[in-house]
Amino acid sequence: MEKGKTKAMNYEPVMGLEVHVELNTKSKMFCKCSADYFGKEPNTHTCPVCLGLPGALPYINKEAIEDCIKIGLALNCSISEVSRFERKNYFYPDLPKGYQISQYRWPLCVGGRLQVTDNSGQEVTIRINRAHQEEDTGKLTHRGNETLIDFNRSGVPLVEIVTEPDFKDVESVRDYAKKLQQIFRYLGVSNADMERGDMRLEANVSVRPVGQTELPNYRVELKNINSFRFMVAAIEYEIKRQIAALEKGGKISQETRGWNDDKKCTFLQRSKEEAHDYRYFPEPDLPELQIKPDEVGKIRESLSELPWDKQKRFVREYKLTEAQAKILSESKELANYFEQAVKHGKEHGVEAVQIANHIINKKINIEEILPTQIIEEIKGKKVGIVADEGELEKLAEQSISENPKAVADYKSGKEAALQVLIGGVMKLSKGKADSAKLKPILEKLLKG
Ligand code: ADP
Ligand code: MG
Ligand code: ZN
Repeated sequence: MEKGKTKAMNYEPVMGLEVHVELNTKSKMFCKCSADYFGKEPNTHTCPVCLGLPGALPYINKEAIEDCIKIGLALNCSISEVSRFERKNYFYPDLPKGYQISQYRWPLCVGGRLQVTDNSGQEVTIRINRAHQEEDTGKLTHRGNETLIDFNRSGVPLVEIVTEPDFKDVESVRDYAKKLQQIFRYLGVSNADMERGDMRLEANVSVRPVGQTELPNYRVELKNINSFRFMVAAIEYEIKRQIAALEKGGKISQETRGWNDDKKCTFLQRSKEEAHDYRYFPEPDLPELQIKPDEVGKIRESLSELPWDKQKRFVREYKLTEAQAKILSESKELANYFEQAVKHGKEHGVEAVQIANHIINKKINIEEILPTQIIEEIKGKKVGIVADEGELEKLAEQSISENPKAVADYKSGKEAALQVLIGGVMKLSKGKADSAKLKPILEKLLKG
């Protein structure tokens, strides 16, 4: 780059995401051990297979495969009729076999897409490269100079979802990650809790001059980030760091970086030179995975309604606004709650839109109030209100006779004194008077 020309250059980020999600199946991926390990006594959910003992043979968990296919279908992937497991070899104490069983060249789900909202509120399509099946590793806990190993997590089913490098801003990345979490929960395949590590994000970040169409020849992988907020912060920091380096005429190296939230910066974890060569090869102890189209058809039929479909249906069926429908379909639980209330409301002449407004405006906690109760709340509000003119006039007269000073003030030109009289009526009616109708009634009485 010529000196003096660098100033005018504008850069844009190019990003791709790798998301790991732990499935909530009954048993582990390749053995009968319970996969429900969280918070359990260390090394109590283990067997020769997930401890990697010599001679132990793995077998495939059908439930996990179905869950992986569900994820693939929700992301518009094609489901491979034939896929294969491979060994990803590396040496690390959390991996007792010395390799992780994963999929590499023949993944189960390929070529999908997901719509997300970008920085400017536009819908953009993110291409999904693959969603493949693999297994989790053991968990290491470092204590001073000691490291403890818990193999309860070893072999728990994991699905990895990889996008193409289609993200151009951080908001789309955030929306994508949030949408994936929502999908996992809707499908019921994972709790997708970030803090517990059910869902893990890795963002690949590079930058290039605006106008350039080729991908940058490097990418920085941001790893070990356990919240959406930290991920956004790490990406924003990384984009700035990379642009600053390029503007100075520097080069950015391919590396893995972590996020230090105390110092609010990313830091080097592993450089390209230390990168693994995984020496993938087909897992000889497992057959190839064959999925018949009619099996996929059955799983497709069993899929629960997805968030965006529910949102559209709420608009169509209940005449909600897009915004209302979006809020109420955020979680399956909230959506079901709303629909239960609608069903109950029908019997009592309460409209779906009223119910939607009530749930949203009153920020109803669905754990605390039953759907039937909110119908009563809505009805109660209407029944309780005093709107009858004659009734209101009686109350207004009483307030006038009880507040002679306010009346005198009003008559001498202090309009604000009317508030005192309105307040009087509200008190007499225990807050149930229709305040919008009160002002003209009081004015009429005071004139007369
Ligand atoms: P690997 O096989 O080494 O994991 P991939 O090509 O599968 O590498 O890419 C991993 C992730 O990095 C994908 O999400 C991909 O979209 C993303 N990626 C690839 N190239 C770039 C780039 N230049 N900048 C940002 N992300 C990239
Ligand atoms: Mg990768
Ligand atoms: Zn086991």
